[in-house]
Amino acid sequence: MRVVRTAEDIITALGPGTPPVILVPTMGALHAGHLDLIRFSKTLGPPVVVSVFVNPSQFNDPADLDRYPRSLHTDATAAQFAGADVIYAPPVEEIYPNGPEATPEGELPDLATKPGLEDRFRPGHFGGVHRVCDRLFELCHPSVAVFGEKDWQQLRLVTHLAAEKHPDLKIIGRPTTREADGLALSSRNRFVPVPDRPRATAVPRAIRAAQAEQDPDAAEAAARAALEAEGLAVEYAAVRDAQTLLRPIETDARVLIAARLSDVRLLDNAPWPAPDNQPR
Ligand code: AMP
Repeated sequence: MRVVRTAEDIITALGPGTPPVILVPTMGALHAGHLDLIRFSKTLGPPVVVSVFVNPSQFNDPADLDRYPRSLHTDATAAQFAGADVIYAPPVEEIYPNGPEATPEGELPDLATKPGLEDRFRPGHFGGVHRVCDRLFELCHPSVAVFGEKDWQQLRLVTHLAAEKHPDLKIIGRPTTREADGLALSSRNRFVPVPDRPRATAVPRAIRAAQAEQDPDAAEAAARAALEAEGLAVEYAAVRDAQTLLRPIETDARVLIAARLSDVRLLDNAPWPAPDNQPR
């Protein structure tokens, strides 16, 4: 496995005549959730490229960007064991030759601007996600890109971007990998102070509480109550159409949660109500 800095070097590393790659975009600090995406990608056949790029344009809080964990060396080892063929760790100039600000974000769809979810609490975030994914797709020409369902609104945005601008690209979402106690893995979980960590289970508990309700409003109230009972500051606890992220629910639905615990933003979502085979 090779670690490369430019898209041109991906081709050099893989050799001529290689089929279009499978791309797993990440910001590094790889955990078992990322490794599941890589292992799954490896089963698809073509070479797997894992991008590691802490994208400045998607951080709306400079302090969050500053403290974001960076660990390329460990990431490369972990990714290699999970089956990655190439790690693509570009400098900012490769992704944004004219600087992040000068790179247009493109027109964002309603599902990224209207729901009042991430769009409300992280202004500018999806503009940055849209920009970086568009550039990564342009530079790497993947046939498939694999993302986590953990960032459900992002997954919907990227699926929309591919359909609009990269019609030969297939986006695949993978289920969320969790700790034994149900907390969704995240690179930011390490910032939860140890004494506060048990309270983080309020998030998966809130999801289960919502899934147990048959009415969307009752489900939202149940989720919010579960979070507040542990002192988490709720940004949203919402039951929405899984595709539009709005109400009314037209086909399938998700319960989506963002809440802060000790200054760490915890994000999660799941199908709503619970699928029949899932314990409540
Ligand atoms: P990030 O490095 O946080 O930008 O995430 C890179 C990719 O990993 C995104 O597609 C995320 O949705 C996905 N991801 C993050 N956490 C998890 C998780 N716990 N389970 C599965 N995928 C995840």
